[in-house]
Amino acid sequence: MSDLLANLNPEQLQAVTLPPQHALILAGAGSGKTRVLTTRIAWLVQTGQVDPQGVLAVTFTNKAAKELLARLSGMLPLSFNQSSRGMWIGTFHGLCNRLLRAHHRDAGLPQLFQILDSADQLAAIKRLLKALNVDDEKFPPRELQHFINAQKEAGLRPHAVEAWDDYTRRRVELFTEYETQCQRESVVDFAELLLRTYELLERNEPIRRHYQRRFRHILVDEFQDTNRLQYRWLKLLADGGQEGGACLFCVGDDDQSIYRFRGAEVGNMRDFEREFRVANVIRLEQNYRSHGNILDAANAIIRHNTGRLGKNLWTERGAGEPIRVFEAFADIDEARWIVEEIQSLVRDGMSRSDVALLYRSNAQSRVLEHQLFSAGIAYRVYGGLRFFERQEIKHALAYLRLIANADDDTAFSRVVNFPTRGIGARSLEALQDAARTWNTSLYATVPHLAGKPGTVLAQFVRLVEDLRRDTTRLPLPELVDHVLDASGLRDFYRSEKEGQERLENLDEIINAAANFLGEAGADAEALAQPHSLLADFLAHASLEAGEHQADAGSDAVQLMTVHASKGLEFDVVFLSGLEEGLFPHENSALETEGLEEERRLMYVAVTRARQRLYLSFAQSRMLHGQTRYNLRSRFLEEIPQGLTKWLSPPSPRGMGARSGFGQRMEPPRSGFAAKAPQPSSRSQDFGGLRVGQLVKHAKFGQGVIVSAEGNGADARVQINFGVAGVKWLMLAIAKLDPA
Ligand code: ATP
Ligand code: MG
Repeated sequence: MSDLLANLNPEQLQAVTLPPQHALILAGAGSGKTRVLTTRIAWLVQTGQVDPQGVLAVTFTNKAAKELLARLSGMLPLSFNQSSRGMWIGTFHGLCNRLLRAHHRDAGLPQLFQILDSADQLAAIKRLLKALNVDDEKFPPRELQHFINAQKEAGLRPHAVEAWDDYTRRRVELFTEYETQCQRESVVDFAELLLRTYELLERNEPIRRHYQRRFRHILVDEFQDTNRLQYRWLKLLADGGQEGGACLFCVGDDDQSIYRFRGAEVGNMRDFEREFRVANVIRLEQNYRSHGNILDAANAIIRHNTGRLGKNLWTERGAGEPIRVFEAFADIDEARWIVEEIQSLVRDGMSRSDVALLYRSNAQSRVLEHQLFSAGIAYRVYGGLRFFERQEIKHALAYLRLIANADDDTAFSRVVNFPTRGIGARSLEALQDAARTWNTSLYATVPHLAGKPGTVLAQFVRLVEDLRRDTTRLPLPELVDHVLDASGLRDFYRSEKEGQERLENLDEIINAAANFLGEAGADAEALAQPHSLLADFLAHASLEAGEHQADAGSDAVQLMTVHASKGLEFDVVFLSGLEEGLFPHENSALETEGLEEERRLMYVAVTRARQRLYLSFAQSRMLHGQTRYNLRSRFLEEIPQGLTKWLSPPSPRGMGARSGFGQRMEPPRSGFAAKAPQPSSRSQDFGGLRVGQLVKHAKFGQGVIVSAEGNGADARVQINFGVAGVKWLMLAIAKLDPA
């Protein structure tokens, strides 16, 4: 046991060995919160204070849950791996899924219910609006999705939503219709997983009491990002902090709260302290992750936020290298430079997997991926184009879902005519109308459909029935293999010109199924019921979407959004796209709260790096089909000059001039998108000025030239002056100086 506690500092030791009571560990990035949480579980188990069965730990991602288990098995003797099964470790969604499967009848669900990820949910909502003939310009599907999820996350069913105006009343009606549709199709969206479980525990006393008695210690990582419903869920399981209930041990960092848009509330920390009468709030201030320069930069950035709970991190590791800053002309140059740096790091002996490329928005990964691919550097993307969200994978999963649950209309609609089998839009419309009239699922409606639609659709139903019959005895990987062939998917992609990669991806599902079997450690009884195992696998696919790829463990550079990087650490971090409008994001930069959340995100990004941090930005960037000219991010200006080193040569165009760095530059309200200039206009010279160049105007201050037209006395340029707006100025009149 002494080994377990050997390297902890006094505050960490105190936290790990607290007597059984509620506790809050409030501490900055890299101070060992996750390590403390893990060590506490190991310590509690090892000292016999709790059975593994009595432990429930909530992590933020499946990857984090796996890491926690791996760290634990390193800390505890081999026999632990036997007993760890009893421990419940996972994400909120994963744990809820487990509870709902175990008590599906009490929760009003069939055993093989399916999970909708957010893309499926959106598709389901679109389908609903269409069926009800609702104008989707008046009720945009995405907004409705957001509305429904927000209600559920606040714990509200349609009848409980307060609607004062017609518009909201209509939205609530649609919410009701959506619920009916989901129930009919036996599908559950992410927010529903939580709400359903919460209601189950709340209403069903025997089940609630069972779990309240079972779990003695509930531990929560990244507590700052729990939403209201999640907090209430925890409270219910811990018996509201009553005597005899579980001890709730929460670790978090208010400076890393980055899910406000998803309803997370830092207020939960305060409520937790009050409602559970937390006697112990422990702060950890020593950072073990990053070198001093990186830490100083993070501290300097986050200091610009207000209303913090306040803490400052320090390290014994020494200042380390300066933070490297690079300015590129265009996003492609930025990506090329990043790839060159990685190549040189790898030549010097760095493992690719120790390098992470972070960005604010998924759309930024494309150009990075392209460069990495061309250079032959192995890489993995978290999130972004998620493995389980790829078109071909979704098609294959849809067949599998129909085997598990034929009433899943989303799956039905997706593949009823894919690969094409001559089922026309008319037949489908007839089917949908009939299903609506009879209030039955599409699948169940087919046999009652007369005429030609009935005949062609019956063939599809027969296909699904054959698939089900032929797979009842097959082990999961073979089941998947069979479906890929019998559905015609393999043949279809074989005949496609660029289908090779898709075929490989399809094979990857078989591997995923095999891995799933291995990890789930399915017992003989479960193996005898392939279709129930299949449902578990499909749930796993929905929940693990986006994390699958990066788990491959091979030596690959890791790409992910800053959101996805939370809790992780890497020797080398590249953070690209530090531009106004991109980071801080234009949607958030306008209001203080949004800006502060962006800054917390920046803090998360910077604190992922152990040894070396690269920050970069580009003067122009192609995003969503448009070229944008952005000023560099204000977050760069918030880093003290002494901590950075500029790699790009001082540029005559001014923007990269070393002298300019550190000066306060008025940030623009948002990024500015302009139509892509013709290559000629970019290189064309306008009285010594060119597109992309930074200039100074006596009245409007600093700005970037975003386009230009005309010649001689008629020449005019369009300039983005940030706060002062975007203006067209005549060159002959306006006094413009290169900045
Ligand atoms: P984040 O806020 O980013 O989630 P965290 O507070 O959870 O960070 P950890 O990931 O637990 O921090 O720890 C950061 C790093 O510091 C890890 O590599 C961990 O092993 C190491 N570490 C933590 N405490 C100590 C210690 N007492 N001695 C040596 N290394 C430590
Ligand atoms: Mg952590």
